[in-house]
Amino acid sequence: DLFGRLQVNGSQIMDKNEKPVSLHGMSLFWSQWSASFYNEKCVDWLYSDWKCTVVRAAMGVEGGGYLTNPESEIAKVTTVIDAAIKNGIYVVVDWHDHNAQNHLPQAKQFFDIISEKYGEYPNVIYEIFNEPLQVSWSNIVKPYSLEVIKTIRQNDPDNLIIVGNPTWSQDVDVASKDPIKDPNVCYALHFYTSTHKQFLRDKAVTAMNNGVALFISEFGTSEASGDGIIDWNETDLWINFFKTNKISTCNWSAFDKDETSAALIPGANPQGGWSENDLSESGKFNRNLIRSLNKDVFKAIGIEY
Ligand code: MG
Repeated sequence: DLFGRLQVNGSQIMDKNEKPVSLHGMSLFWSQWSASFYNEKCVDWLYSDWKCTVVRAAMGVEGGGYLTNPESEIAKVTTVIDAAIKNGIYVVVDWHDHNAQNHLPQAKQFFDIISEKYGEYPNVIYEIFNEPLQVSWSNIVKPYSLEVIKTIRQNDPDNLIIVGNPTWSQDVDVASKDPIKDPNVCYALHFYTSTHKQFLRDKAVTAMNNGVALFISEFGTSEASGDGIIDWNETDLWINFFKTNKISTCNWSAFDKDETSAALIPGANPQGGWSENDLSESGKFNRNLIRSLNKDVFKAIGIEY
């Protein structure tokens, strides 16, 4: 682990030495639709070539995911966790669901298993509800979150937990007015640069001013659909925003789907080893971005590039 145990302090995430830290890396795609990318070599490549300090396992829940195949989904996630720990980087374990309030027993079961097995590793970050829809924070999402956090904390008193919030994890301002009382939670902020613009940065500022920390566990250089055009001007504005505020990021997604946000072109090898020709426009941009954002981190451990 590059920074040791991560700890929220106000609106900032700190490393083991209580210095502000931000992680930058890639999110994998929905696990039930991209199983071949959930392998050790893919994570190795995202570390060694892309210089990711974090990867995100986006475990699908509905649509043929955990609800129907819990054992095979856990196997995929643990493969990614083990590879991240081996490489000394962080891993976001994401309950990739839009209706998790309807799947509370399953979410508790899943996070009980993961936190029991991995709670001692500072590398593991729990993301307990990817993107709630337009439902109440205080009456739906917060009560769900408290239950799942209670389950995790019985096994793991201290690792970082990312809490999703309504409107596809854009209502960080709403959550910040009625926050969760746990010393190590932060709130997911998700955006797609061609759709979500200044209004969402304003909401993020409100949340941070209210004293909560944010984690951009998913963003795409595309429209909200994951496809469409790339708005480079807005992408630059977002990069400046998260650099200035030292917010961690995972780019969506390390997958070879034929859509704008996917980093790889169809047919790219799921086990990594990608050349420039395997990368989409978004993939080329985000690889360069991640390598640049993490350059000083790698330099500090004696890796220069
Ligand atoms: Mg722990």
